[in-house]
Amino acid sequence: MAVPDTLIRDDDWRDQAACVGLDPEMFFPLAGTREEEEALATCHRCPVTDQCGRWADQIGATHGVWAGQVRGHEFPPMGRPRRCGWCLHEFLPYRPNQRYCTVQHRVAAERARARKDVTA
Ligand code: SF4
Ligand SMILES: [Zn+2]
Repeated sequence: MAVPDTLIRDDDWRDQAACVGLDPEMFFPLAGTREEEEALATCHRCPVTDQCGRWADQIGATHGVWAGQVRGHEFPPMGRPRRCGWCLHEFLPYRPNQRYCTVQHRVAAERARARKDVTA
């Protein structure tokens, strides 16, 4: 069976990300909000900020909280991009509660969460 290339990228570091399993919306906060503070605090205890910052540069992320830094400014509540809870890529949701850019990434995140639950 062919493996989708989204699943064979070198993204092991995401397993260690402090934001795995958190609501990715939290990382696209409005400026100056409590959510923004919480996102920054999460990054500050994250062990993979270097990888995260490099990834954000690589994908040209212009908005959101990445590696403990805020990029860009707030979006109007409607139509703002979100961050995929797995690949952290910005995407435009087509459903109100969509958290992942693709089904593959939803499944990958669910597996990672399940692994964490088992080892916790
Ligand atoms: S540094 Fe990146 S990977 Fe770590 S918590 Fe912040 S956004 Fe998530
Ligand atoms: Zn994704």
